[in-house]
Amino acid sequence: MVMREKYDRIQAPIRILFIEDSAEIQEATRLIFEIHWPEAEIIQALTGVEGLELMKAESPDMVILDLGLPDMDGMKVLRDIRGFSDAPVVILTVRGEETDKIRGLELGADDFIVKPFSHREILARVKRVMYPCQASLGIKVEQPPNSTGTKIDFDLGLVSRNGKSVKLTNTEMILLRYLASHDGRSLGDNEILTEIWGEDYVDSSEYLNAYIHSLRQKVEDDPNKPKIIIRDENGYKFVKGGIQST
Ligand code: CA
Repeated sequence: MVMREKYDRIQAPIRILFIEDSAEIQEATRLIFEIHWPEAEIIQALTGVEGLELMKAESPDMVILDLGLPDMDGMKVLRDIRGFSDAPVVILTVRGEETDKIRGLELGADDFIVKPFSHREILARVKRVMYPCQASLGIKVEQPPNSTGTKIDFDLGLVSRNGKSVKLTNTEMILLRYLASHDGRSLGDNEILTEIWGEDYVDSSEYLNAYIHSLRQKVEDDPNKPKIIIRDENGYKFVKGGIQST
């Protein structure tokens, strides 16, 4: 099992910057954390500008960022944050906005939550981006001889290709490790979604597709003709032969 520890056991004190213009959602979320994770401090920002200022002034441990803000494009806020901070960012998107999820991941978001969200969902997401190591213990991946120029460092979450390195986000790393730990075997969408996101997500293939898209951009020479993360009739599989030995 990768990711399904109970969130009610969480006790770590963390500081979360929540950038969201709806006072109602702000208050509801503050209450969720007060009840289920009282050690978490929520720093509230109602605009993008305020969020960026608080990001710099308070250096929170992570950020929850609504993409629909009154003063700035949420993507711009995300890009600005990534200009000076590696703190995990979870974006809030509206159902059906597939391109938002993909763009968000490309701009360095670690995860996304589709509105409206349940309290279980937001707690699980925050926990997952904050404590990714718990999800990846015990998975070791060997890298045999290759056919492409891609190298993956699974410990650091770094992908090197053509002399350039890109960092995987936490969720990308968890997903890639999971696929790699079943090298050569195809994993069905439901199996992956249940394992990585939890049982409530078995029908949410859009999550998986968005992450596969963003992973392929990082690991494949040609994301349109993937050689490492392959889709076949049974699902997705990781092909070690596509990766260079280190
Ligand atoms: Ca909004």
